[in-house]
Order: sequence, then structure tokens, then C-alpha cells
Amino acid sequence: MTADRVESPGHVVIVGASVGGSRLAAGLRKAGHTGGITLVDPDPDAPYDRPPLSKQILAGDWDAGRASLGDPAQWDAARRVAAAAELDAAGRTLCLDDGTRLGYDRLVLACGAAPRPLPGMPRRGVHTLRTLADCHGLRADLDRVGGTGHGRLVVVGGGFIGAEVASTARARGIGVTVVEALPAPLSALLGEEVAAELALLHADNGVRLLTGTSVASLVGEPSVTGVALTDGRVLPADAVVVGIGVRPNTGWLAGSGIPLHADGGVLCDAYGAADAARTVYALGDVARWRDPLLGRHVRVEHWTSAVEQAEAVARSITGARPAPYRNEFFVWSDQYGGKITLLGRPGPDDEVTVVRAGGERRRFAVAYRNGARLAAVLTVNWPKALVAARRSLAARGGADDVVAAWKDL
Ligand SMILES: Cc1cc2nc3c(=O)[nH]c(=O)nc-3n(C[C@H](O)[C@H](O)[C@H](O)COP(=O)(O)OP(=O)(O)OC[C@H]3O[C@@H](n4cnc5c(N)ncnc54)[C@H](O)[C@@H]3O)c2cc1C
Repeated sequence: MTADRVESPGHVVIVGASVGGSRLAAGLRKAGHTGGITLVDPDPDAPYDRPPLSKQILAGDWDAGRASLGDPAQWDAARRVAAAAELDAAGRTLCLDDGTRLGYDRLVLACGAAPRPLPGMPRRGVHTLRTLADCHGLRADLDRVGGTGHGRLVVVGGGFIGAEVASTARARGIGVTVVEALPAPLSALLGEEVAAELALLHADNGVRLLTGTSVASLVGEPSVTGVALTDGRVLPADAVVVGIGVRPNTGWLAGSGIPLHADGGVLCDAYGAADAARTVYALGDVARWRDPLLGRHVRVEHWTSAVEQAEAVARSITGARPAPYRNEFFVWSDQYGGKITLLGRPGPDDEVTVVRAGGERRRFAVAYRNGARLAAVLTVNWPKALVAARRSLAARGGADDVVAAWKDL
């Protein structure tokens, strides 16, 4: 694409300066956008990446600077440390909580999601993990708890973030209990058989996992001392991490006319546009894009999706041959010194084939098959299995080809 074919749409305002917002700013400049770019975000530390917050930075292996996503000046973007508070879509004006009114030609909502709290929060010693400030707060508490030599951490929710925090805390010698309402962590996503296999990673590493129960209340005032469960047990706790999912940050859009889904998220077409005039777009964790193959809107809370949607929106805004975006649904998670990857979306009726690799470590790959078609692939501590699956898929192979490729590894 040559620069003279770019329709530079004037001023682009991006709400949210995290991975989605900052990749969009970079993508717009790369695509030849010459107009203004303003990044709006109340987090003074933004832009930074979130995956290291439950891994390297929480563990103390990286300093915060290594999660930086760059300086808005490098994309010739203005940065406002404020929150978007109200949208006048007809007047193309965004109102910030510091009283500023920003006019725009295109507005992009990349304002992500916020953790769901438990009743009884905030309370000292009880954490959620979304921001760098949250990570620093939790790390200080893990230092305190770990320093006693017999510290007890309760993690509420055994999803990816809960499991990563459990793994990081365990590596610091802290006694960890994970409480999970489902029969096994992630069983709604992976199916019970595979989720139960994955859950063994916790036991392998000395983490106690309680499933099929949930939190009745937090105990202790002003600092947490325990967690009362619905089955009557009370778990003593020096610190608690709550990882029970997120809610898209759309409260401020109420009444703006921007279409919102009842279960959360901004409704977008397959190009990320949220309005017929194509002046407002949304991407990343806050967005629910129409998936042309699935025939419905889906919201994905994974890093790769935010990055790819930012690239797609940059193309749509600059007019450089937009194409409907197809989500691959890829996520990785680092736990207990190894890596888990999921590519694709397992369906509830998919058949499952598990192939195990040799060696001392728990290493396996799972093919989810829908007839002959490969619907999704999970790998646990076996990166080569993901590479082989991608190769087979690129060659239009079916589930049998992928399983055969794994057996040859
Ligand atoms: C601890 C942690 C670990 C993770 N690890 C992984 C991983 O290993 N693999 C993976 O695939 N994904 C991981 N994720 C998920 C991944 O980080 C998210 O999918 C990704 O950050 C989404 O990017 P985003 O730009 O859409 O939104 P976010 O990263 O949520 O950023 C939204 C930004 O918008 C700002 N904002 C909110 N409201 C407003 C407002 N009203 N006005 C202006 N700005 C606003 C926020 O301050 C924030 O900076 C992890 C997430 C967390 C929290």
C-alpha cells in the first residue's frame, strides 16, 4: 500500500493505552496515518503489558520497565492521563473525567475490562490483579506472607490468572490453596476430562485444589484472616487473591447509543466498527466482534486477539483494504516453570484425543475433533506439539494428521 492511497481520517482518539490501544497507535502510523492521535488512559503507568504481572514481575524476575509497551511520543501520539467519562457520539465529542472535551474523527474503544470483586472487598490482604499497581501491592504482600516461613495464600478462582499466581507464590515457598467452583478449573472451556488432567499440575507442585465449592464470605477485619466456603469450611489465609473473571469497562458508555451486549462488551461488526457511520470502533477485551464463521458475536480476553484486532482496526481506519477478521482464539499461560497453550475453541460435543510425550514432566497434547475437523488444540509443556499442529493445519490437514504428527515427534 502506498502512502498516497491512505485516507487519513484526521484526529483519532483511542480510549485505553494498553496493548490494544498502543498497538493501534503504532499500526496507524505504520499504515500512513498523518493526522493526530490521542491516547486517553487514567493509569499513570500505561502503556505496559499485562501478562508479566502474574509471571515475571510478580516473581521478582523482571523490573516493571521490561513490561513497557513504549512511549506514545514514538507514535507521535498525545497522551492524556484521565478517564473517558461520557460520549456524545452524534457530536463526535469525548468528555474526560478532568473536564476536557475532545473532538474526534474516529474514536477507538480499547478500554479493556476490570476484575470482578467478591462481596466484602476492599479489605486489607485481599487482591485482584489487573494493573501494575495491583502487581506491586500483591508482590509486597507475598513478601510479607512468604517472610513468615509458614504463610498461607488462598486463590479464589482456578482460571489462567489464578493458576499463574498460585504457581508464582508456590515458587516462593508459600502454602497455596486454590478454590474453584467448577468440578475442575477451566472445565467449562476445556471439558471435564481435560481440565481434570490439567488440574494435576497443581497437585504435582504442592498446591491444594478445592473444587466444586465457592466462597461464602471473607473473614477478618480490617485485614483478612480467612475465607469461609459455601460447604462450611473456613480456610485460614494471610492473603487472598481473587481471580473470578472480569467485566468489560463499558459503564461509562451507558446512554451513548453505542450498542452494548447484555453479557458485556461493545457490539462490533467483523471489522471492529460499532456504528453504521464507522466513526467508532472497539477492540480487545472490551469488544465483542462478529465472527463471520461462527455467525455470532464473540468477546475474547486474550493478548493475541487484542494485538490482531488493533492491526485490523488500523487497516479499517486508514482504508487499506480491510478484510473481515477471523479470530484464531490463541492463549498461552506459564505455570510451574512450563507452558500451556490453547489454539481454537473446544466445543461441548468435540471428541478428545490425548497424546502423551515421554519424560518425567507432565507433557501432553489434546486434539479436540468435530468429525474429521480439528476444532482446537491444547498443549501442556510440549511446544513442539503446537508447532506441529500449526503446520498440519496450514497444510489443511484434519485431526488425524495432527495426532499422527504428534506421535512422530
Ligand atoms: C495478570 C494478567 C496476566 C495475563 N496473562 C495473559 C497471558 O499469559 N496470555 C494471554 O493471552 N493473555 C493474558 N492476559 C490477558 C491480556 O493481558 C488482555 O487480553 C489484554 O491486556 C487486553 O488488552 P486491551 O488493550 O484490550 O485491554 P486492557 O489491557 O484491559 O487495557 C485497557 C486500558 O484501558 C484503560 N481504561 C479503562 N477504562 C478507561 C476509561 N474509561 N477511559 C480511559 N481508559 C480506560 C485501562 O486503564 C487500561 O490501561 C493477562 C491479563 C492479566 C491481567
